[in-house]
Amino acid sequence: MGKVGFSRRTVIERGLLMVPALAFLPSIAKAAGACADPTDSLRASLHYTEMGPDAKMVCAGCGFFEADDDKSCGNCKIFNGPANAKGHCDSWAAKG
Ligand code: SF4
Repeated sequence: MGKVGFSRRTVIERGLLMVPALAFLPSIAKAAGACADPTDSLRASLHYTEMGPDAKMVCAGCGFFEADDDKSCGNCKIFNGPANAKGHCDSWAAKG
């Protein structure tokens, strides 16, 4: 009967080949038009999404949002980083 499955060496070699590919995942999301990675720990904890479910409660209307020149991506003071003007999270607060 033949050997079934991968050897430990094969698993390690293939795992090492995947490391560079995984390092590019955030840039792939950005390249697809996203402003920020919703899966980073802080954004995920506040349920950040690149497209808010209610057009009246999006980042562009939030007091923590600073618009940027490119109009679609701005800066969120809560995340101290990028947010989509059409995005939303649990910390949304109307601009005062
Ligand atoms: S705090 Fe405001 S600007 Fe920041 S992600 Fe949440 S809704 Fe958008």
